[in-house]
Amino acid sequence: MKDVFCIGELLIDFVAEKQGSDLSKAMVFTKKPGGAPANVACAIAKLGGNGKFVGSVGNDPFGNFLLSVLQENQVDIAHAQQCKTFTTLAFVSLSDDGERDFVFSRGADKQLVYDPELKKGIKDNLLHLGAATALLGGALEKAYGRYFFDALTQGAFISFDPNFRGDLWKGEEDCFVKKCMPFIEKAHLGKFSLEEAQLLSGKKELSECCAFLHDVGTKLVTITLGAEGTLVSTAKGRHTIPSIPVKPIDTTGAGDAFIGCLLYQIADLKDPYEVLENEALLLPMIAKANTAGALTTTGYGAIPSLPVASAVFDR
Ligand code: ADP
Repeated sequence: MKDVFCIGELLIDFVAEKQGSDLSKAMVFTKKPGGAPANVACAIAKLGGNGKFVGSVGNDPFGNFLLSVLQENQVDIAHAQQCKTFTTLAFVSLSDDGERDFVFSRGADKQLVYDPELKKGIKDNLLHLGAATALLGGALEKAYGRYFFDALTQGAFISFDPNFRGDLWKGEEDCFVKKCMPFIEKAHLGKFSLEEAQLLSGKKELSECCAFLHDVGTKLVTITLGAEGTLVSTAKGRHTIPSIPVKPIDTTGAGDAFIGCLLYQIADLKDPYEVLENEALLLPMIAKANTAGALTTTGYGAIPSLPVASAVFDR
């Protein structure tokens, strides 16, 4: 089983309780671990794979809490860093109709310092670049670029999830798109939501989105479609793989569970690059990744709802 290095942010989501979409009125917040790359590392580790988290939190009680959550979920945190800056905090309030109010207090996640030693670890393993904050500047963006370069030179299998957060890029969407392009160009595997595929490609139709992403360079394109399953596109063809029926309670983390489960299966192959060519191998893997995504929607919170291997593979 190969290692999967997941680079990016680990933060606290303070979710306002019962206050509609107005944060100014919120009085009570629930503390939840957040950060897509950390969720992906947990998804892999919970399935029994080698999920490794590379990111920075503060040397404070929140940072300690976040690292302990990853450790409890068997994620390797040997490459996580704790710095003097406070742990990154996101305050979010959601109304029943999906309106959000959001305050982002960016701290330690942007301080990730590049570690040249990691280059050896990345060699012939998998690298997942899936940070919502990595392209917002700071040391993290530089480290991200250097690990990306290391992955390219060391033969690592590269997975990219743009994790677009509209709240973080208001009015700067073009800049986001531009910054994503080198990753889309070199990624072996890309995971996109429909919104992301349309934003990045500037196209509306799914087939046009896929054609654009392949033209830029991504070999294996996955576009997750919630209850509809996943559209998967390779040089060989395009298929929509259905998900399983579930009664969703909280969809947070479904996409991270999906890509985590797919990477877990790819990491178990002798030759990870085989999925790019072999649809008979790939399509059942997508179906299992859909199952992991679907199961994650059946409980509250991302990390606690991520499935273990038996829930996905023994059904
Ligand atoms: P993201 O969280 O990135 O927006 P999705 O919500 O599309 O991603 O979820 C990822 C995957 O999880 C989907 O491709 C699908 O297979 C599965 N999934 C998500 N929501 C549901 C649902 N309501 N019913 C069944 N499967 C779901």
